[in-house]
Amino acid sequence: MKAGDAAKGGTMAGERILIIEDEERIAQFVERGMIYEGFRVSVARDGKSGLDFARDNPPDLVILDWMLPGLDGLEVCKRLRAASGVAILMLTAKDDVRDRVEGLEAGADDHLVKPFSIDELIARVRALLRRATKASQPEVLRFVDLALDTGTHRAFRDKRAIDLTTKEYELLELFMRNPRQVLTRDVIFDRVWGYDFGGESNIIEVYVRYLRQKTEQEGENRLIHTVRGVGYVMREE
Ligand code: CA
Repeated sequence: MKAGDAAKGGTMAGERILIIEDEERIAQFVERGMIYEGFRVSVARDGKSGLDFARDNPPDLVILDWMLPGLDGLEVCKRLRAASGVAILMLTAKDDVRDRVEGLEAGADDHLVKPFSIDELIARVRALLRRATKASQPEVLRFVDLALDTGTHRAFRDKRAIDLTTKEYELLELFMRNPRQVLTRDVIFDRVWGYDFGGESNIIEVYVRYLRQKTEQEGENRLIHTVRGVGYVMREE
């Protein structure tokens, strides 16, 4: 492992990025690009040392490769997420909706398929860091008897606590910040997943189903309604 430290001349020290990638060529390519942008960059060559490094030197964001020797990226992602709310961007050679869903369910915040351009990677990293900054000022959003704490990412229906995965939380937050507004599938894709899953994906339906299962127990009224052919809306019955 090596740890580089560089900030663009005269600017404030940048956010800390940890790259976990065993392929030398790609690790260097990403490291150079990030350092040029003023980030403070460290590189780990396998999952185990990446986890150790993140524990001792908590980064602001982790760029995590899926294919790693030993612990694979998915397992590293789960362990990172269990330990902290650090932003995680996964790199993968796979381009399959199921794999993406698996990565997101493991707690990754975003996902980039190789080969990618450094400009795209930097744009994704900046977007994730902006989101993380916003999320650091918690508030409680309310709609009817549903409450969502943006600090703990927990929801409450009346007094009943509801635990949410990362993507369930982001989807519910989107609905709760836009009550009684019809959200199209495109808007939901863009705001929650940040990139295009492709037209045939049913990922929104899947996650709406998860949210309904969690928020409509014991005869509680439906709050997330389907608008056929368009998208979804959060509203009273
Ligand atoms: Ca790799």
